[in-house]
Amino acid sequence: MPTETFEFQVEARQLLQLMIHSVYSNKDVFLRELVSNASDALDKLRLAALRDDSLDADVSDLHIELEIDRDARTLTVRDNGIGMSYDEVGQLIGTIANSGTAEFLRELRQAQDAAGAEGLIGQFGVGFYSAFMVADEVTLLTRRAGERQGTRWTSRGEGTYTLETVDDAPQGTSVTLHLKPADPDNQLHDYASVWKIKEIVKRYSDFITWPVRLVGERGEDGEAAGPETLNSMKALWARSRDEVSEDEYHELYKHISHDWRDPLQTIQLQAEGTFEYQALLFLPSHAPHDLFTRDFRRGVQLYVKRVFIMDDCEALLPPYLRFVKGVVDAQDLSLNVSREILQQDRHIRMMQRRLTKKVLSSVKSMMTDDAERYATFWREFGTVLKEGLVTDSDNRDALLAVASFATTHGDEETVTLKQYVERMRDGQDDIYYITGESRESIDNSPHMEAFRERGIEVLLLTDPVDEVWVDAVGEYEGKRLRSIAKGEIDLGAQGDEKAGEDREKQAEEYAGLLGWMRERLDEDVKEVRLSTRLTVSPACLVADSSDLTPALESMYRAMGQ
Ligand code: ADP
Ligand code: MG
Repeated sequence: MPTETFEFQVEARQLLQLMIHSVYSNKDVFLRELVSNASDALDKLRLAALRDDSLDADVSDLHIELEIDRDARTLTVRDNGIGMSYDEVGQLIGTIANSGTAEFLRELRQAQDAAGAEGLIGQFGVGFYSAFMVADEVTLLTRRAGERQGTRWTSRGEGTYTLETVDDAPQGTSVTLHLKPADPDNQLHDYASVWKIKEIVKRYSDFITWPVRLVGERGEDGEAAGPETLNSMKALWARSRDEVSEDEYHELYKHISHDWRDPLQTIQLQAEGTFEYQALLFLPSHAPHDLFTRDFRRGVQLYVKRVFIMDDCEALLPPYLRFVKGVVDAQDLSLNVSREILQQDRHIRMMQRRLTKKVLSSVKSMMTDDAERYATFWREFGTVLKEGLVTDSDNRDALLAVASFATTHGDEETVTLKQYVERMRDGQDDIYYITGESRESIDNSPHMEAFRERGIEVLLLTDPVDEVWVDAVGEYEGKRLRSIAKGEIDLGAQGDEKAGEDREKQAEEYAGLLGWMRERLDEDVKEVRLSTRLTVSPACLVADSSDLTPALESMYRAMGQ
């Protein structure tokens, strides 16, 4: 087959332009991206070979190789992993399948600072293209394990790429970068330098579970030096916490999550006994933009005895903890486990229970040890966690203990139910809340008047899920959760002694008026009552305790029910 030239898809071209004229200050990370792709390819091959005995592939010495040629000014990243077929190269490297790309490009253009751009690049998985930050030409030679023919792809990143088939390509993939001249003022280092390459691998890829070897380094006499393994390959999750530095944990987090910021919290769990496993989990410091979309990818990877099995393992944590990233390495599972099996497995369910409790107890300690960190956590993930109040009755108490809410006491600060109950007024039996779309709409609600007047604290709930969980939960420590916008609320003498005495007198006085109103409004309302909940407004509409609130009503209507 002759060499054919193709055009990059529009989005891919835009992305390449951004890479070439990079806004990205830290160009070193191109190597992290290429090593990470190589590592993925090795994981995939090992798994494929385990699942298919007949796969004609060599898995005897899986590794990553880096080769520097100073004279030619090239750097090659080579793996003997799964490789790609001709079609796959066109699909995976020539286009950007990720549906978030358009959004990515928009955000990238808006990202003011380099740090913002950096994180976005990782988040959207455009790793391979980062090679064009440091190279003016990239050649990729690949052969898919089990196939005979290989493929060569080349591009200068300027709108087109070429593809040709190759007869004698080794299994796996090699990516050769023809390096741009070094320009230290623009963070473009000499990437043909042995020292620099060692530094980058140590920094970003030390924990990669495959050996990363440096070859082709020439000594004084022109002899190639023997291969040297640059990374320690230490599985951080299997080591005790005092042996591992905070930085090492953070690099692993960044590798798994594609986030460039440090995690908020690192959680380690080593379970011994009949079903042994190790877990290293991370709470991110920011909620990802797609957390509430249907195809949100979870972040927990499953390993079995150090062998990578799958990303995005949904069986390990409940949906309301889907933002948690990390690694779980189980010792006694079959390497052949599938997602379906995992969903059924008794041990996995036990693991899920234990991991869930561990995450919730870490949040609890964060609350007592580091209020500021907890506040960040709850701001970013509180909305998701509240889903658990509805779906996970086993952990309801643990969730209620770490939940906090905006309140009429104080502007910014949130309050836990425990704190609320502790400062309840004498004679107050219930926990009062109001739901609404925003703090402003709630604050101006006529329902608030009497509560404000009497200094009774009201929780201000503005997430759509709030309406659902308050119903599901019903009470906290024997105190009913009561909406101030529903049913009859008798504030009686709470916070106001005189009110109680006056009530009977008022009822007599207004009986005539109420009767008349009831008749006139018969079509529109169920009932007209004298209320203690207003102080300034003459009247307000109230739902029956059992009715849907207006917000829920419109939510269900929007869902077509
Ligand atoms: P991501 O790694 O986030 O998917 P990349 O741009 O880094 O995005 O890579 C795009 C795709 O190209 C990968 O998902 C993978 O399918 C393929 N790929 C890249 N490098 C390799 C490699 N060394 N071996 C096999 N496939 C690769
Ligand atoms: Mg990648």
